[in-house]
Amino acid sequence: MGDEYVGRKFRTEFKSNDIPQDTRIYEIIRLGEKFKKMGLLPDEDGGHAGNFSFRNSKGFVITSGGRDKGNLSQKNFVQVLNVNVDSGRVIVKGEEQPSSETLTHHLLYSGRKSVNAVIHVHDDIVLKNAHKLNIKSTERKHPYGTAELAKDIYKSIGRENFLAVRGHGVIATGKSLWEAGKIIETMHHAAENI
Ligand SMILES: [Zn+2]
Repeated sequence: MGDEYVGRKFRTEFKSNDIPQDTRIYEIIRLGEKFKKMGLLPDEDGGHAGNFSFRNSKGFVITSGGRDKGNLSQKNFVQVLNVNVDSGRVIVKGEEQPSSETLTHHLLYSGRKSVNAVIHVHDDIVLKNAHKLNIKSTERKHPYGTAELAKDIYKSIGRENFLAVRGHGVIATGKSLWEAGKIIETMHHAAENI
């Protein structure tokens, strides 16, 4: 679903090629395997769906762009140090380019101090039933990876922990990866049981 994957819509500046070290990386690898099996991380439009991140003392760690999230390894993680949404500049440490949705993750961490993890997957059954499930949605459809999409998501999710991204997928936030992952699963099962 969504438009064709053509890469990132911001410029990345690499401070070093150091790969982040954190046990939460293994938590994401396991969540990626699980959500891939559930069909929430499809390979589509020349890319691979989904992105995962967690907050740390230097900023946040996010999955790299264009990788299969069902088969991640440590080098597929990037430390994000600084983001300027309006100028489209992202400063990182790592070997690979950060997720195309890095701007969205940045806005959620910078605006909401209680958010320590963000997960985005493509859950078509939840999207289709968002209204019935009383799930909030973004205001409009935007091309992926843009500052407009990031700002709409940030504004629309408000203080909630789950949002339908119109014509695209869903996003969950949490105090931990476990919490955000649990929300994704709970909403998926609720939609299946309609
Ligand atoms: Zn997506």
